[in-house]
Amino acid sequence: MYRTYTFPIYPQNETKQFIDDTFEELHSLIVQQVSNDLKLESNKIVKAKNVPMSSNRHIYSLSSMIVKHKRYGYDQFQNLFIKQKKHAYFHFVNFTISSEISLRSRNGKLFKTPYRMTEYVKTRVLSGHLVSIKIFKKNQKYLASVLIKHKPSASSGEYKAGLDIGIKVPAVLSTENGSIRFYKGGKIRRYLISKQISLLKDSKIQLTQKLKVSRKLKNLDHKISSMIVKDLIKLNVKQLNIEDLKYIQLNKTAQLQSSWSYERLQRFIIYKCESTGIEVKKVDPRFTSRLCPKCKRHNQAYKRIYSCVCGYQHHRDVVGATNIMNR
Ligand SMILES: [Zn+2]
Repeated sequence: MYRTYTFPIYPQNETKQFIDDTFEELHSLIVQQVSNDLKLESNKIVKAKNVPMSSNRHIYSLSSMIVKHKRYGYDQFQNLFIKQKKHAYFHFVNFTISSEISLRSRNGKLFKTPYRMTEYVKTRVLSGHLVSIKIFKKNQKYLASVLIKHKPSASSGEYKAGLDIGIKVPAVLSTENGSIRFYKGGKIRRYLISKQISLLKDSKIQLTQKLKVSRKLKNLDHKISSMIVKDLIKLNVKQLNIEDLKYIQLNKTAQLQSSWSYERLQRFIIYKCESTGIEVKKVDPRFTSRLCPKCKRHNQAYKRIYSCVCGYQHHRDVVGATNIMNR
């Protein structure tokens, strides 16, 4: 799995000059690309001296964004040039980190810069495989983001578990050794989802207000997924089964509109599981809410309580999670 770590760097003298020159060049490359695009000569090759090859995509995407704004006459167009200068960055793939960061320029020259990392970040960065480094500027400060590939450490757990993600209760966990956990937050989550859907439809509402709601929802999903993974470790889980969302039939419009929220919560859980070494398996969830985990008869839950003639009785979502575990 991949992770990025961001920290400040303090380039001096020659290195500072090199980085500043590269930013200047990047800016002029984007300007040149935009003018080419507007003249519809986008095939013209722009030659770079400093800017690394890997930045070409960044140049094209920024320039096409600017061109789009100009073509459609969006009113934010004036600010875009200033903004893109602020958000400019470039990647190096040829670099090393020891007591200093060494960057190798396009023509092979080596530049060194001091950096500052917390002890934790340093251990994480140096224990993984360095993929690339991104240099950018924020409030006149130089920052670096390193992309690291980590080998996941295998989980020391021994049990299987199943997780049922739902609307009323965001998630229910059932484990092989008989533990059951309900994760709260369904009410606030439903409220935020419906609010976000209605806000997105309204073009008069400010973007900042829309972002506020979506940030709240994202934070909630991070909280729920962290709690789940914490419990998985505590309960000694080795493998987590979750629903393969491609099988889920969303009939009601409300469910269809919130399907992205399932997908994201699931994505957060998978990501956190993988970073702690817990294996995740996606399973076919069909009939998991009807099947009796004990005798395999099919029953319908009544008022969220599921009971079977064989004597098995439980909350409906526990049945779902247990069946997902058994798949
Ligand atoms: Zn039964």
